[in-house]
Amino acid sequence: MPVDTHQHVALVTGASSGIGLATALRLQQAGLVVYGAARRVDRMQQLTDAGVHVVAMDVTDDASATAGVERVLAEHGRIDVLVNNAGYGSYGAVEDVPIDEARRQFEVNVFGAARLAQLVLPGMRARRSGTIVNISSMGGRITTPFGAWYHGTKFALEAVSDCLRLETAPFGIDVVVVEPGGIRTEWSGIAAEHLRATSGRGAYAERANAVATSFDSETMARRSSPPELIAATIARAVTARRPRTRYAVGFGAKPLIALRRLLPDRAWDALILRATA
Ligand code: NDP
Repeated sequence: MPVDTHQHVALVTGASSGIGLATALRLQQAGLVVYGAARRVDRMQQLTDAGVHVVAMDVTDDASATAGVERVLAEHGRIDVLVNNAGYGSYGAVEDVPIDEARRQFEVNVFGAARLAQLVLPGMRARRSGTIVNISSMGGRITTPFGAWYHGTKFALEAVSDCLRLETAPFGIDVVVVEPGGIRTEWSGIAAEHLRATSGRGAYAERANAVATSFDSETMARRSSPPELIAATIARAVTARRPRTRYAVGFGAKPLIALRRLLPDRAWDALILRATA
């Protein structure tokens, strides 16, 4: 296949659902060549129909991530935009979550993203341009009970992104952090499932079950923004001449992050303990 080196090329991880799916479609509409990556390629016909290239990829598997990036480079010669979006919420009390599961949470949400950045950076440096968008969360700025490992990964991703921005700025590369608030996707169902399975019985059961119920409640769904809102923000960031370093968007993101900055720890704890009782 001839290599087209003109059009800008984007690789979006976690494209089989939610924010990643909406982002792949949105970037495609914006005129980029888009590759959408995920494990469940059987769920990605909508992307194929829209002209998005589908890549089978497990971000925790080095060979799989490397092969995915090599395929894009073989077909289009470049990756201008990497959207590190693949992720999930491994919820459960710190006392209950097996450490192997905590490691897995970091493998997907942090190390997977970092590995993909490593794979695309040589090309970006050579062209002296490129944008890496890391999907953090408002949970990368605030904390809630039973979210220790999820928040841990997102706080880590925020710091890794800030370091990466400093390191790659001299090469003309932008690093953007997106901090979604509550978004209507499969995320909350998966987080609720983890929470019930991990802490739904035992010392933390009462509060854990209440939090899990709130995650998959109608109210939560009503209080969530559509994934297209995040997709539009990402499209704006990657097409901006000078993107912001952080975009907090979606239900609750801006007010909760602002509130956390204002409140002392004990005041925040009291607020969250009341809200999760
Ligand atoms: P979804 O569960 O709808 O989508 C998650 C995506 O991540 C899926 O496409 C899934 O694909 C992919 N994924 C998970 N594990 C892996 C893996 N090991 N390798 C490759 N892909 C993987 O959730 P969202 O769209 O909501 O989540 C997208 C991002 O947004 C996540 O990082 C999440 O933490 C973040 N976020 C979400 C919020 C929300 O309220 N929804 C709020 C704040 C942040 P597959 O299983 O097919 O591999």
